[in-house]
Amino acid sequence: MALRLFDSLTRETRELVPGSPDGVYRFYNCGPTVYAPAHIGNFRTFVVNDVLRRLLELQFGPDKVKHVRNLTDVDDRTITQARKEGRPLGEITAHWTKLFHADCDALNLLRPHVEPTATGHIVEQVEMIDQLVQRGHAYAAADGSVYFKIASFADYGALSRIRERELLVTDTAADSDHKNSVGDFALWKAWKPEEDGTVQWPGPKGAAPGRPGWHIECSAMSRKHLGKTIDLHTGGVDLLFPHHENEIAQSQCCTGVPFARHWYHSEHLLVNGTTMSKSKGNYFTVRDLLDKGHSPTAVRYALLAGHPRKQLNFTLDSLHAAEKAVATLRNFRAALLPSGGSPEAFASVFAALHDDLNTPAALGALFSIVNKGSAGLDLPSFDRVLFALGLRLDAPEAPKAEVPSYVNTLAERRWAAKQSRDFNAADALRAEIQAAGWQMLDRKDGYSLEPLKR
Ligand code: AMP
Ligand code: ZN
Repeated sequence: MALRLFDSLTRETRELVPGSPDGVYRFYNCGPTVYAPAHIGNFRTFVVNDVLRRLLELQFGPDKVKHVRNLTDVDDRTITQARKEGRPLGEITAHWTKLFHADCDALNLLRPHVEPTATGHIVEQVEMIDQLVQRGHAYAAADGSVYFKIASFADYGALSRIRERELLVTDTAADSDHKNSVGDFALWKAWKPEEDGTVQWPGPKGAAPGRPGWHIECSAMSRKHLGKTIDLHTGGVDLLFPHHENEIAQSQCCTGVPFARHWYHSEHLLVNGTTMSKSKGNYFTVRDLLDKGHSPTAVRYALLAGHPRKQLNFTLDSLHAAEKAVATLRNFRAALLPSGGSPEAFASVFAALHDDLNTPAALGALFSIVNKGSAGLDLPSFDRVLFALGLRLDAPEAPKAEVPSYVNTLAERRWAAKQSRDFNAADALRAEIQAAGWQMLDRKDGYSLEPLKR
């Protein structure tokens, strides 16, 4: 069955096929900027990409897919955060990378085959900038920064269909006074001691020491790890312009061949009708939801419940519904035959996934099978569906934990001590309860016990 996906460049839904003779499908997914926790909006994008990765593996074989997802560990935001905290850049980015990976594991994301960092590829970025300058596509400005000259690339705007007029409006770069033309974008940013602190590297030829612009990292890293032309390039819809438009310009002006054969952008997760974002502060992290007692599988399910190319409004109700759906799937699985069922039983689920990654239709198809009962269906076929969706039903779930009986006893004793105004004893018992991982929430007429937040 052909795996078809909307292509943001041609605006057609096209089949995914490897472009190179070795049959390896080359997949680049723009990764996170590691200066703050990734929120579940970011994870919507990463989960959708993970389903794509899984479908590609099922389609071409696990050893015929190469998946690269980068870490942006130097840019304006990471540097600003490091300065704010008065800590070295590498310490900040290492911290947030570790937490990002923990959330990826909780959500059952397959690890990319390569996870390159921007700071680990300065040489490759500088080389690419040198090439662009040599070929007349870039120029050094008076302050030692280097800019890409968009007028030198006739296809500029092909992905975003942006017109010259709109470029003027969208250009908000603070350093625009050094550029020849407003649409030109930074490939290299000259060191500004008051902003950049100690963050700097030797620059391209004719440029000052400084750091790479954001866009060049993906051009350089995808070329190094996947070659000049990649099969699929993805990210959230906000990356389409200018990030991906600029990646195309940089890469194609260096290599002279098409950069990506297919582009895919997933839509945003909203809260109360606005995009969930770090800068707006209106976000949930994976950790927030797990601490509330939700299971990671339900979080993943909720993120897949909407069509990836449509905005999805996140609510705690949708998460409760996901929780129930996951429980139903777990019960269903327990009743399946060990083998011998019809291998085509779940074809409708795959048909939906292969039709432009229609995850809500796939879940709908799955539940219409589940609702008919498990007769004649077997585990291996069902587990193939679970693999494609990345739903781990055997994962250690984190529902409301049972209060151990000795904690209940401690709580009763503390409540009694408090009633008789023996506050020293009450405080000592509260400490014991906390040491056991619980907290006691007092009300006028009684108390409840909650697991302590990790
Ligand atoms: P960032 O860490 O900001 O570089 O973003 C990482 C990825 O998350 C990018 O692919 C973004 O397009 C994507 N993204 C950011 N905000 C959202 C959102 N609210 N919903 C879905 N994806 C998002
Ligand atoms: Zn990128």
